[in-house]
Amino acid sequence: MLTNRTPSDGATTQRFLVTCDGCSFERTADGRENAAAIGNDHRQQTRHDVVALEVPPSLGDD
Ligand SMILES: [Zn+2]
Repeated sequence: MLTNRTPSDGATTQRFLVTCDGCSFERTADGRENAAAIGNDHRQQTRHDVVALEVPPSLGDD
């Protein structure tokens, strides 16, 4: 039991799609902090511009 996440407790975790303008990098992340971390990491490694798009939950299983 590392973390005790309860998605139904309050707001659901937002999902983000992190994409890159400079290459085909594409990652999904749960939560804004994770998306920012992924984006920052890629930007530091590649100096590319990354964009985090919020993914609506209803489109999650498309
Ligand atoms: Zn890139």
